[in-house]
Amino acid sequence: MATTHAAVGLLLALPLAVVAPDLAAVGALAAMAGGVFPDLDLFAGVHRKTLHFPDYYWIGAIPALVAAAALPVAATVAVAWFLLSAAVHSVSDAFGAGTEPRPWERTSAEAVYLHSRSRWLRPRYWVRYDGAPEDYLLTVVFLAPGLVLFGPTVRRVALTFMAVGGAYTLVRKRLPDLEERLL
Ligand SMILES: [Zn+2]
Repeated sequence: MATTHAAVGLLLALPLAVVAPDLAAVGALAAMAGGVFPDLDLFAGVHRKTLHFPDYYWIGAIPALVAAAALPVAATVAVAWFLLSAAVHSVSDAFGAGTEPRPWERTSAEAVYLHSRSRWLRPRYWVRYDGAPEDYLLTVVFLAPGLVLFGPTVRRVALTFMAVGGAYTLVRKRLPDLEERLL
C-alpha cells in the first residue's frame, strides 16, 4: 500500500542522515512523496500503469543520483530521491497482488505494467494484498529507523503515514463493498 511505499522511501533516505545531515530532511520528504506518487493513478488513468514505470523511472533516477553525488544541494537530492523511491515503488508492486478490487481473491494476473515490454508483470503475493496485516507491519518496521534518525518534520510525516496505514489496514476488506454501494 502507499504508506509502505512511503516507508521504503524513508528507508532509502537513511544514508543521507549520515553522509549529508543538512540535506537529510529534504531527501526524506522527497523520498516519501516519490513513494506515494505512482499511486495517484488510482484517481486518473489506469492504476499501476499510468504513473507506474518499473523500468523507465530508473532512466531518470540513476543520472539524478549521480548528479546529487556530484552536486549535493537540496534540488538535486530531492529529485534523485523522489525518482529512486518511485522506481522502487513501481518494481515492488510486482511483489504484491493484482489490481482487482478484492486482491485477496487472486483473480487478476496484472500486478504492474512494464511499459518497455508493453505487458503486465504478474503478482508474486509476497505481500498477499495491499492493506494486509503484513503490509502494515512493513509500514511500521520501515518507518521506525527514520523516526529516530530524522528531525521533527520528517517524524511528523512518518507518524501520519503510520496512522493512515493502520486505519487503511483495519477497513481494507470492507472497502470494495462500500465503494460498490456508493457508486
Ligand atoms: Zn503502486
